[in-house]
Amino acid sequence: MGRAFVYVILGGGVAAGYAALEFTKRGVAPGELCIISQEPVAPYERPALSKGYLLPESAARLPSFHTCVGANEERLTPKWYKEHVKSSYLSIIPFLNLIIHFLKWHNFLGIELVLGTRVKSADVRRQTLLTAAGETISYKILIVATGARALKLEEFGVSGSDAENVCYLRDLADANRIADVMQSSVGGNAVVIGGGYIGMECAASLVINKINVTMVFPEAHCMARLFTPKIASYYEDYYTSKGVKFIKGTVLSSFDIDSSGKLLILGMEVDCPADMVVVGIGIRPNTSLFEGQLTLEKGGIKVNGRLQSSNSSIYAVGDVAAFPLKIFGEIRRLEHVDSARKSARHAVSAIMEPDKTGEFNYLPFFYSRIFALSWQFYGDNAGEVVHYGDFSGNTFGAYWVSKGHLVGSFLEGGTKEEYEAIAKATSLKPAIEDLAELERQGLGFALAV
Ligand code: FAD
Ligand code: NDP
Repeated sequence: MGRAFVYVILGGGVAAGYAALEFTKRGVAPGELCIISQEPVAPYERPALSKGYLLPESAARLPSFHTCVGANEERLTPKWYKEHVKSSYLSIIPFLNLIIHFLKWHNFLGIELVLGTRVKSADVRRQTLLTAAGETISYKILIVATGARALKLEEFGVSGSDAENVCYLRDLADANRIADVMQSSVGGNAVVIGGGYIGMECAASLVINKINVTMVFPEAHCMARLFTPKIASYYEDYYTSKGVKFIKGTVLSSFDIDSSGKLLILGMEVDCPADMVVVGIGIRPNTSLFEGQLTLEKGGIKVNGRLQSSNSSIYAVGDVAAFPLKIFGEIRRLEHVDSARKSARHAVSAIMEPDKTGEFNYLPFFYSRIFALSWQFYGDNAGEVVHYGDFSGNTFGAYWVSKGHLVGSFLEGGTKEEYEAIAKATSLKPAIEDLAELERQGLGFALAV
């Protein structure tokens, strides 16, 4: 049994949603495009899961955060996929129009959303995918948008993390589980393992849900891959003021259950009882279907500036793609929503309008919102760092200068115009001769570029 499509998007996350929108803008005919997703729901804005989804009141729920609301675009509900194909295909001949409307009404056309379906193997030579249900789906062009999976503690030799109240966070099912466990832990204690994005955002959500939080991570400070010690210290002080405790430089070894039925986290300076645990210790891109078939690099599928893999019929976008970052002249894999959205749109553009599409030219952009705080970062955190602004107040930042040029900018508490200014300044990589002068000018430097 099998079905054939011109375009297949494998994966139904952020990148898939933005690719679908771009396909309809550029003209996809009824029945040409299929999205296959392991998740049971249409593509949604994954960042909501650690933020609005975990609020104790008026929490965000689908359908409110389907893609592409995160970039102020249309909201692609399941109905949208049925209805959206390029309108010009519907109006060539009025009679054809009627037939197509009839077929769409009966759910035969539109964009095919194959949900709750895992692809278990891919044959790039035959251009086919085999689903876990045994269906073969063939494609002319495949966009791989399989994202990533959360790393499990077991992969680091820690046992006991399969306990009921140990939570990970990657998809809607995980978020529902955290929300449930949180509800039964109000007034109790949570331990957050990992001091990265998931750790920081979930710790804030737990506190907002009136749960006492202890964060445990191996590094000397939080967000060690991006923040300088000075920036980290600001956020750690803020979290401390909200009651969060930090156990740094520590890798735990196992979980146990104490006499009162609470999880006991072992292998730390102090054994720590917890009603729940949230683990955020990084991800691995979902590349396994293509190992040995496509060229891999930096843990992802290597693509060129058109997001095209070593097989010309296959493109890769989002967390799974390792693409040439023109601005810094190297291949990178980014794990952030802005690059998922933009790489997806660029791939569709390269597929549909190859002659009009140049190389993907992307400026890395990361952000987070925690409690009342909000920061943005653009570029690369390489080279020497210059801090600016008031670290005892609400607005401060940092610049990174490498080989005499500005390569990275961070800003907490900026306005829309200020964030746009640091993005623009970073994209231009201006020459910096005097670090002390850059520090003196602070945000004013970016605003004047
Ligand atoms: P995903 O969105 O992960 O989608 C991958 C899809 O592929 C999933 O639907 C998955 O089920 C499916 N899939 C995988 N394998 C198969 C298979 N074999 N068969 C069928 N389907 C398959 N980034 C930011 O910049 N800012 C944020 O604030 C932010 N917050 C985040 C909060 C959370 C909780 C998480 C988990 C991530 C967050 N991110 C954030 C990162 C951002 O969400 C990702 O970079 C983005 O989702 C990547 O998009 P993607 O489409 O590549 O992968
Ligand atoms: P991160 O890579 O951000 O952070 C992982 C953290 O866990 C690091 O502090 C890491 O330390 C630590 N760690 C690694 N191994 C262990 C261990 N065995 N025990 C304890 N700590 C450990 O990953 P996250 O899990 O936080 O985030 C997952 C994904 O979700 C990422 O792709 C991220 O980009 C995305 N995300 C993005 C958000 C945003 O952009 N605002 C928000 C939420 C998620 P070390 O550095 O030493 O390895």
